[in-house]
Amino acid sequence: MLIGLQKQWQILRTAAEKDKLPHAFLFSGPDKVGKKTLALNLVKFIFCQGEKEMEGFSCGKCRACIDVGKKAHPDLALIEPKDGSIKISQIRDLEWKLSLKPYSAKMKAGIIDDAHLMLPDAQNSLLKTLEEPRGKALLILISSDPQRLLKTVFSRVRTMKFFLAPDAEIKEKLASFESDFEKIEKITNLSLGRPGQAMEFLNDHEKFSAREKKLEEIEKIMKAKIPEKFKYAKEIADSPEIIEETLALWERRIREELILCKESSSCLVRPLRELEEALRLVKTTNASPKLILENLMLNFNI
Ligand SMILES: [Zn+2]
Repeated sequence: MLIGLQKQWQILRTAAEKDKLPHAFLFSGPDKVGKKTLALNLVKFIFCQGEKEMEGFSCGKCRACIDVGKKAHPDLALIEPKDGSIKISQIRDLEWKLSLKPYSAKMKAGIIDDAHLMLPDAQNSLLKTLEEPRGKALLILISSDPQRLLKTVFSRVRTMKFFLAPDAEIKEKLASFESDFEKIEKITNLSLGRPGQAMEFLNDHEKFSAREKKLEEIEKIMKAKIPEKFKYAKEIADSPEIIEETLALWERRIREELILCKESSSCLVRPLRELEEALRLVKTTNASPKLILENLMLNFNI
């Protein structure tokens, strides 16, 4: 059920059963690997009023499980970015909700999705709650870019790391919905270790074709001349998400080539390092994405 997340679930479940959960978690890791799903699973597990399943999951059938599943439980507050950021008013609202007595569950729970998009004053406001939690509440911050959180916030939450899932596990999950082996193989390849992405591609053909097109675009750019490469860099430089997606797909593409052609593979190792470095710079520094991309394109001759 939880692709690549068994270890994390085991830790959370045991802590919940022993009533030893910390006040606040940070679920940190790449997008679409199941951080929010696991956070909701944990809340369900704590709120569930039915018989727990053998593997230790919530019953999935009681009122509490259904309401958490719909993200409409009165004791759960879910905060998501609005217009690209999380504002102080949203955090104040969350703090107010968490301070109330639970309506039907044994505690309150708050989830802040894309927590790194909290504006600085919102993060400062959250500090108060993290320092002096009022009442019995669990707070889960979710982030694919935790470096953007204030150090003071970061140091007051328990971090749980999430990783990309192995292809084999993604394929196994897809196989329970889809019988076309070739399609499973393709979706797995294009989802870059992200089970959530794989499920999206399975259910949304448009998104799947868009990703396929993106890969074709990369294939073309890999073979293009410098002016064309620069033009492409300029086109995608404005969107960090597109840059990350492009570089990650590109990296994957080169890794595949490395596996396929062992004899000539030494010439691919350097481009792969260059790509990894570019991806790191885009993710962790304020350097101009356009310059990073141009530099990459210049050094990239395969
Ligand atoms: Zn239940």
